[in-house]
Amino acid sequence: MSENSLVPERANAEALLAQLQDVILDYYYNPGRIGDFRNIDTQAIRAYVQQFDFVQPADMAQLLASVAEKMKAWTVATTSPGYMGLFNPAVSFSSILAEAFAAVYNPQLAAWSHAPLATEMEQHCLHYFANALGMPMQNGYASFTSGGNEANHTAVLLALAHHFPHYVQEGLAALSMRPVLYITDQAHNSFDKIAKNVGLGMQALRYVPTDSDLRMDIGQLRNMIAADRSAGFSPFFVSATAGTTAAGIIDPLGLVQQVCAAEGVWFHVDAAWAGGIAVSAAHRQLLSGIEKADSVTVDAHKWLSVPYTAGMLFTPHRLVVDAAFGVQTKYMPPTPPEIVNYYQTSLQWSRRFTGLKLFFTLAEWGQAGLAELVARKFHLGDYLRSRLQAAGWQLVNSTPLPVICFTHPKITSGQRTLDDVLEAVYATQESWISITQLRPGERCLRACITNYKTTAAEVDQLLKSLVATLK
Ligand SMILES: *Cc1c(COP(=O)(O)O)cnc(C)c1O
Repeated sequence: MSENSLVPERANAEALLAQLQDVILDYYYNPGRIGDFRNIDTQAIRAYVQQFDFVQPADMAQLLASVAEKMKAWTVATTSPGYMGLFNPAVSFSSILAEAFAAVYNPQLAAWSHAPLATEMEQHCLHYFANALGMPMQNGYASFTSGGNEANHTAVLLALAHHFPHYVQEGLAALSMRPVLYITDQAHNSFDKIAKNVGLGMQALRYVPTDSDLRMDIGQLRNMIAADRSAGFSPFFVSATAGTTAAGIIDPLGLVQQVCAAEGVWFHVDAAWAGGIAVSAAHRQLLSGIEKADSVTVDAHKWLSVPYTAGMLFTPHRLVVDAAFGVQTKYMPPTPPEIVNYYQTSLQWSRRFTGLKLFFTLAEWGQAGLAELVARKFHLGDYLRSRLQAAGWQLVNSTPLPVICFTHPKITSGQRTLDDVLEAVYATQESWISITQLRPGERCLRACITNYKTTAAEVDQLLKSLVATLK
């Protein structure tokens, strides 16, 4: 074979890249309307997808053009500035470059020896961020994860290995007392999945009641740990949330830490969403207490505006990481102590260059840009709160973070339903918010400023459609 049909002609490759460049620039600068996803036509989507039978090679230029058009039609435009929904970010421009960059070099981050630069670039980012959190890293460890779920999962595994040293060899079955862990009913549901997946079972989850502001009740935490001990259980892990998913509540981290220290229990902070604010010196004191955690989860793919997926896990306990994940192979060289070999320290084995998109973003924006990133969203959150109140809406959560949960007397009195209001907002295709429930029987609307491109104009637009629904 003289020619290799697997490699495109260079001229074709150049044309495709030029086409991709237009796709990127068009969508980055104009994601367009959010779209109306109340009645998704599953059949139409499947028919479109199934026309690609992978028998004859496709014309890649046509394919790119076609998929670009359909992505717009059939994807919620979470990067659109009117999207005030879940924690889905608009991505930084440099992170888009980083994704292509990582793909072409395709460094294998399982082992330092294969990807020394990439590993060191990731560690540099992670240490920068650990420093922002105030976490001591002399004997610490940090790595990227697929997301908050994997980081929380990792934290539970570390706590098990630390608290029950025999567990690593003999497994949970060898434990004489059943381990239990503590969260609140506001905690992320990843802990349900983790309890099922690590072999603890859902019954190992203890839900600490919350106070009137939905923060973990410290007295109750202490009482529950004591009650569990006398009933023969083994408390080993508490997760406080910094920025709950529904209401953006920050648990009293310092107080939870004191209970954990007194009880000899692992103190985890799930800061998947709000942890990102640590890059702003003006805001990081809201996370005070996080620096004493045994482990911390932060998602770079939330506040820090990089594409999916990029979670981060931080712990000051490198030795526990080695105990929980250490493994030897016959084909890899021994590891010098000063380097990180991710296959020996984390859940993943083969691993992509996830950290580059954060590295590029931190570099692109710098300290002033990162401070602006955080300040803008806080400012717009305050602006939305004040506009809602001025228009007679009631706030039902109490947090400085830009998550606003709200309702209206016309809704609580039954003259309008939440669902009608939401329908009317979605029908505009200009704004996207959601419904959540903070307390039993209390549903409310929820808007979150998650996009660094959102401006007062989009907040005004949301207000306009909300007010119109009450007419
Ligand atoms: C988003 C989130 C998670 C889950 O993180 P993924 O990145 O989706 O895996 C966990 N905890 C909290 C508080 C979150 O906001």
